[in-house]
Amino acid sequence: MNVHDLDAHQDAPIFAPDAYRLTDFQAELIAKARRFGKAKLAPRAAIHDREATFPIENFRDMHPEGLLAICIPKEDGGTGADFQTYCLTAAELGRYCGATALSWNMHVCSTLWSGALSDDLEMTPEDRAAHVKRRRIHYQRILKDGAVYAQPFSEGGAAAAGGIAFGTEAKPVDGGFSLNGKKIFASLSGSADYYGVLCTERAEGEAASRRNTLYLAVPANAEGVSVVGHWDPLGMRGTVSRTLLFKDVFVPEDAMLMPHGVYFQAASRWPHMFMTLTPTYMGLAQAAYDFTVAYLRGEVPGMPPVKRRMFPTKQIAVAEMRVMLEQTKALWFQAITEARANPSKDQVLRAYAAQHTVMENANAIATKAIRTCGGQSMLKSLPLERIYRDSRCGSLMLPWTAEICIDRIGREALYEPGEKDE
Ligand SMILES: Cc1cc2nc3c(=O)[nH]c(=O)nc-3n(C[C@H](O)[C@H](O)[C@H](O)COP(=O)(O)OP(=O)(O)OC[C@H]3O[C@@H](n4cnc5c(N)ncnc54)[C@H](O)[C@@H]3O)c2cc1C
Repeated sequence: MNVHDLDAHQDAPIFAPDAYRLTDFQAELIAKARRFGKAKLAPRAAIHDREATFPIENFRDMHPEGLLAICIPKEDGGTGADFQTYCLTAAELGRYCGATALSWNMHVCSTLWSGALSDDLEMTPEDRAAHVKRRRIHYQRILKDGAVYAQPFSEGGAAAAGGIAFGTEAKPVDGGFSLNGKKIFASLSGSADYYGVLCTERAEGEAASRRNTLYLAVPANAEGVSVVGHWDPLGMRGTVSRTLLFKDVFVPEDAMLMPHGVYFQAASRWPHMFMTLTPTYMGLAQAAYDFTVAYLRGEVPGMPPVKRRMFPTKQIAVAEMRVMLEQTKALWFQAITEARANPSKDQVLRAYAAQHTVMENANAIATKAIRTCGGQSMLKSLPLERIYRDSRCGSLMLPWTAEICIDRIGREALYEPGEKDE
């Protein structure tokens, strides 16, 4: 097999349109993602990983491809991808550069959550009209100027897991809000044009409540916004997820990405919204498997054509990886397919199970890939060791960390809402 045949093999879709009954629209988008990922993301991934720098040129290149607007509704000039279509497309990008796919997710969520997802939620006609008008402002910035949005919600306390109200607070003032607080792990810090900040709306003398969570698009260059701290992590180094500080930042009312109270409603009625971190790791799992097959066949570009596939232990290892990959794909595909408002209890438990499975299995498959391919495969001149480090990060991401998923499955399987033991 020559390199071109290998390329064709590696670029087979993760979810073949015929096998998974995808629409033509979905098939076109995932093909575009593979072409784009291979041409633009893969060649740049190693340098951003090594230097822990943000791949802003990938986002500049996404603009003319329409990828920044993938989840902007069609009536607003975007591509109009729904949740499942977005997830399938993002998984393809994750194969080529985990850090770009993960950062892209933060950007896309600002359009998916304010777009298709908000359309499923309850609002008064006045709130809906105001929301549609406001979100158009954001969408136009993305469509016309290629504006890039980040999504900082983590604070280092219990808020990101959904336990308490966010400590970052927006105090109502004339024409908007005054924002104060701190966000940790803000992917795209220093590179995004807007930070989609989750915070608590709190008037003077009012108690903080999760019901008053606001989602505000704060201009990165607004007075009082600063990026601090170092970024030198194990994996996902290209996300450049540093700390953001907000000190008396004035944010106009039209910066609201969701109306008052709607984020709280979304988190409880549209829980699959938190699965949007998984596609990147689905892509990394596929990439680790693909690498292993190519490596054992002696077909990795730039490596001597030494075959290692004839050893039974290698065949068993690849078979076990394939079983794990197919299990992961099947469960994940089912979970992203049934994402909707007001899912059943079974659908929510399946979503937790899918999240846990993708995040844990991506790293398990990458770990096995290194053990199976051997010492040369973990050299930095090859992508596998980056995939291995990047894949470690998925389980740690709030609000649905692997631990929290297990915690919730166990509790919710054994207790109906309101049930207690005496
Ligand atoms: C590469 C990368 C990029 C990221 N990008 C972003 C981003 O763009 N925006 C953003 O907001 N965040 C981002 N995060 C942050 C991420 O979502 C988490 O908030 C962060 O990893 C939490 O770290 P921590 O040590 O503070 O967690 P802690 O809150 O200290 O939790 C530690 C562990 O304890 C467990 N735990 C926590 N709370 C509970 C609970 N209530 N019940 C049971 N178990 C619990 C969880 O398993 C968790 O992993 C990113 C993280 C990584 C690794």
